[in-house]
Amino acid sequence: MRFTTQLLHGRFAPDAATGCVTQPLYQTSAFCQQTAEDMEKIFAGRKPGFVYTRVGNPTIAAFEQRINALEGGIGAVACASGMAAVTQAVLNVVQTGDEILASGGLYGGTSSIFRDLGSYGIGVRYAPSNEPAAFEPLITEQTKLIYVETIGNPKLDVADIQGLADVAHAHGIPLFVDNTVTTPYLCRPFALGADVVIHSTSKALNGNGNSIGGIVVSGGRFKWSAEQFPKFREFSFGPMSFVVRMRQRMVTDYGGCMAPFNAYLTGIGLDTLALRMDRICDNAKRLAEDLAGRGYVVNYPGLPGHPQHALAKAQFGGRYGAMLTLRLGTKERAFRFINSLHYALNVSNIGDARTLVIHPASTIFIHSRGEEKANAGVTDDLVRINVGLEDFEDLQEDFAQALEASKEPSPEA
Ligand SMILES: *Cc1c(COP(=O)(O)O)cnc(C)c1O
Repeated sequence: MRFTTQLLHGRFAPDAATGCVTQPLYQTSAFCQQTAEDMEKIFAGRKPGFVYTRVGNPTIAAFEQRINALEGGIGAVACASGMAAVTQAVLNVVQTGDEILASGGLYGGTSSIFRDLGSYGIGVRYAPSNEPAAFEPLITEQTKLIYVETIGNPKLDVADIQGLADVAHAHGIPLFVDNTVTTPYLCRPFALGADVVIHSTSKALNGNGNSIGGIVVSGGRFKWSAEQFPKFREFSFGPMSFVVRMRQRMVTDYGGCMAPFNAYLTGIGLDTLALRMDRICDNAKRLAEDLAGRGYVVNYPGLPGHPQHALAKAQFGGRYGAMLTLRLGTKERAFRFINSLHYALNVSNIGDARTLVIHPASTIFIHSRGEEKANAGVTDDLVRINVGLEDFEDLQEDFAQALEASKEPSPEA
């Protein structure tokens, strides 16, 4: 079964009882069992069944199974948000005294959590570039995982997943990959050696910008030994250890579960992922080429001048995602440009059906230190663009007029 067919038919069979053709929404907190014996068996893990939505819910389970299948994992656990997925996936593994080794320029929320983990005695080191060779010298006895994003936001640097997996495995540690920006349509990190894949499902997987969610998928090749990861002492299920502990200790206990309604809505969006990504990647590449052709400084992995264009091309199958950045010389011009666009919405998220823009330095990075901004490639004149599904010609005209309009301050200003 190919990707789009799997999206539509992979896990889906019309509901046997009613013939319902969508995944039913079980909008409930709890599930009643007929007998105390049944309840005991479910709690003991001797009988499949549902008890309480924080632990499991059929709508959420169906969504988890679909993402798991698309990623080629051995199990997936849905979370309340992408941030809940990042937090719970990392805390599932590390403890006081451990270190995380990450690429620079991570999603702002993620680097913010990593900084906060310092207060629990969990350290983080950032590699100066995302070349695998830049990670190796930073691995210590304390390093318990390598954490990267497929395409940095808004730096747009590309992680060499296979190379990083080789480095991680040579040191007996797992590779975590945030695949939000690329989705399994462009990139399947497990096939390249990654061990844990994380998504914010609020973005392109949903595609319509109507619900927050996240998911953590386990690849199944890494051995979570209790000597190396004491947290798995009670969870020694071989390759399944990570995902079993993730559900039982993290999401069930810490409580960052996905809402059934969000799983339902995101599942509907997921049906059209491939169609949307084809359109979005095509629009983004054409817009990047158009803006670069007008002489502007444009960053996009799909442009031949991008330092990792060849890696991006090989790793993502000739598609390069929705995100590009544009430098306009000054913060003032960047603001005038954003204010002049008719179609692009000025919002802080990515992965909507509509084109989105933002000025990262004054928003997402407003509380970041200078060094963090520099690591993330954020300058005062930078505009981040997330291309949507609009007709390309309308985007082209709109961006062209906004570039013109932003050239000089308006006389009234
Ligand atoms: C948005 C995003 C997150 C956080 O996800 P939320 O659903 O907003 O909590 C994490 N990583 C990346 C790469 C993102 O784009």
